[in-house]
Amino acid sequence: MDIEIELLPGSEQKDLPSSSNLRFGRHLSDHMFLMDYKADTGWHNARIVPYGDFCLDPASACLHYGQAIFEGLKAYRGQDDKIRLFRAHDNMNRLNYSAWRMCMPQVDKNELLQAIKTLIRMEERWVPKAKGTSLYVRPFMIATEAFLGVRPAREYLLSVILGPVGAYYAEGFNPVKIFVTDKYVRAVSGGVGEAKTAGNYAASLMASEKAKELGFTQVLWLDAAERRYVEEVGTMNIFFLLEDILVTPELSGSILPGITRDSVLRLARDWGLKVEERPIAINEVLEKAKSKALKECFGTGTAAVISPVGALYYKGENFSINGGKTGDLAQRLFDEITGLQYGEREDAYGWIEVI
Ligand SMILES: *Cc1c(COP(=O)(O)O)cnc(C)c1O
Repeated sequence: MDIEIELLPGSEQKDLPSSSNLRFGRHLSDHMFLMDYKADTGWHNARIVPYGDFCLDPASACLHYGQAIFEGLKAYRGQDDKIRLFRAHDNMNRLNYSAWRMCMPQVDKNELLQAIKTLIRMEERWVPKAKGTSLYVRPFMIATEAFLGVRPAREYLLSVILGPVGAYYAEGFNPVKIFVTDKYVRAVSGGVGEAKTAGNYAASLMASEKAKELGFTQVLWLDAAERRYVEEVGTMNIFFLLEDILVTPELSGSILPGITRDSVLRLARDWGLKVEERPIAINEVLEKAKSKALKECFGTGTAAVISPVGALYYKGENFSINGGKTGDLAQRLFDEITGLQYGEREDAYGWIEVI
C-alpha cells in the first residue's frame, strides 16, 4: 500500500496532555489515516493527513442506515521504551468479520496493520510513558455513498485515529457494582451482537443510563429470548469462577468475541484451570453467589483488561461477590496480560509485536 503523507506543520502540533490526567477518548493525536473505497475501484487513496473534520454528504448512508463498524486496540510503551501491539492481527480479522456481517468491503489486513504501524511511528510522541498508560488505536469504517435507500452502500471511508489513554486502575483495582437488567437486551440471536457495529452501542445506552441513575457502574445483559442466560457486562465479556472452574458464556452469535476473553481462556487453560464455555443461567450465578460457590466474577476487554465485579443487583436484591474484593485469579490474569503488553513477561504465544 502506498500511503501519501501530509504533515501537520510543527508549529501547529498539539500540546501533549499530562500523563496523570488522561481521560479515555478525550485526547486525539495530530494525524489520522484515511482510505477510500468505491465498488468499481476497490480501496484507494491511502493517506495520512493532519487530524481534522471529514466532509460528508448529508445523504451519506452511515448517517441514516447505520453501516458503521470499529475496532479498539492499544500500543503500549514498555520500560525499555519499545512500543508493542497486542494481538493486533486478531483485531484486523474481527474488523473484517464485522465488515462482512454489515455488508461492507473487506480490507487487506496486513496492509491496514502496516498503515496503523506507520501512523503510530509518526505519532510516537503520543505514546505515553507512565505505567499503565497507552495509546488507544481506533480503526473504523463508515458508508459514505450519498443516497437514500436501504441497500449496502457502494462507497466507504476507512479511518484510524489515535489518542493517549490513562491507567485504568491508577489507584488499584476497584470492583464494580453491576445492575442485571431483565428489561433491556443488547443483542438478539441472529442479529449483529457479534459484530463491532455502531448501532449496538446506541442500543445499549438506555439500559446503562438507567443503571447509572441507580448508582451502578454497568449493566449485565441477559439473553434476549428468555432473559435467563448471562451474555456480557457493559461492553466487556464476563467470567465466573465457580469453585475451581472458570466459566464464561459460549460464543452463541449474540456475544462479541473479545480478544481479551480469548487470552484469558488460553492462559487459564495453560495454567491448568478447568475452563467451561457454556450457557450460564443468571439463577445459577446468584444461587452460587449466595452459597459462596461463586468465588470471583470479572469482565474482560481491551480498555480495562480485567474488571472485577464486586456485586450483582437483580430484581431488588444485592448479591455480594468475594466480599466486594478483587479475587486472586482476576489479579493474576491482569498481571500476566499487562506484563506481556508492556514487555515485562516472556511472550510464549506470539501475541506481541514490537513496532
Ligand atoms: C470490544 C468489546 C468487547 C471486548 O473485546 P476485546 O477484544 O477484549 O477488547 C466485549 N464486548 C463488547 C460488546 C465489545 O464491544
